[in-house]
Amino acid sequence: MLTGLHFLLTYTCNLECDHCFLYSGPQAQGTFTLNQIRQLLDEAVKIGTVEWIYFEGGEPFLYYPIMLEGIKLARAMGFRVGVVTNAYYATAEEDIEVWLKPLGELGIADLSISNDPYHYEDEKENPALRAQKVARKLNLPVAEIRIEEPQVTAGAGEKQGKGEPVIGGGTMFRGRAVEKLIADLPRRSWQEFTECPYEDLESPKRVHLDPYGNVHLCQGLSMGNAWEKPLSKMVKEYDAGSHPICGPLVRGGPALLAKECRVEHEDNYVDACHFCYSLRLKLLDRFPQYLTPKQVYGLE
Ligand code: SF4
Repeated sequence: MLTGLHFLLTYTCNLECDHCFLYSGPQAQGTFTLNQIRQLLDEAVKIGTVEWIYFEGGEPFLYYPIMLEGIKLARAMGFRVGVVTNAYYATAEEDIEVWLKPLGELGIADLSISNDPYHYEDEKENPALRAQKVARKLNLPVAEIRIEEPQVTAGAGEKQGKGEPVIGGGTMFRGRAVEKLIADLPRRSWQEFTECPYEDLESPKRVHLDPYGNVHLCQGLSMGNAWEKPLSKMVKEYDAGSHPICGPLVRGGPALLAKECRVEHEDNYVDACHFCYSLRLKLLDRFPQYLTPKQVYGLE
């Protein structure tokens, strides 16, 4: 049952983090217009099960007035609203209040602020901490998103064979993380990756929407295009089994996707997402309507 729609309000970000699975950065293009937001919120109502609307990115505060208007529209329709931000604007307490107060007045139900070594090297004094402090003072429902750099640990992460190394820290090996962070990490045989460990591709609880109309089940893995088919209809008719990428992933993970699509691949990968993402990169031109947009694969 789909309960959450996450608007990637913009792909643009002031930062360019190594772990970003959307390849966001200052040069990344693509931002929602109000008209598009309105259209998809109307569809959210029609779906009937959606409770949460999130505004994230990229960095949604880069398009602050549009984000506020989007929140206002969603709240007027009765949705609970969350916002995800890196708090780049958090300079001084008085100024932060100016940025955050309107969100409180609109009754947002979650303000998630990224604070980790990818975003800010100084753990004790940084914009995220300043914003968290002011958010608490304003009684905003604040939470922290913390992703550590990958470390080899035992007993953490996805299911794996006893005694084998796993990678902790919460970094997802998709997008820019695959380009930047996998070099020294231990790998396991491709045959072990027989399920998608993170996404419920059969019955997704939330999807991400981008300004090009893509409805992401996982970053760069699209259910379809909401500008070509109404989102409510798409969600109603969605059948993972007949989706050319999700079908094999549901039945047997990236290992089956590789076999069914006859993709040449390496013998070993860091984890299921690394394998899945690497396969999808090779399948982009075969399934352009489902593996899109190319920019989240680091291509233009
Ligand atoms: S990258 Fe593939 S295996 Fe990983 S969560 Fe996404 S769909 Fe699942």
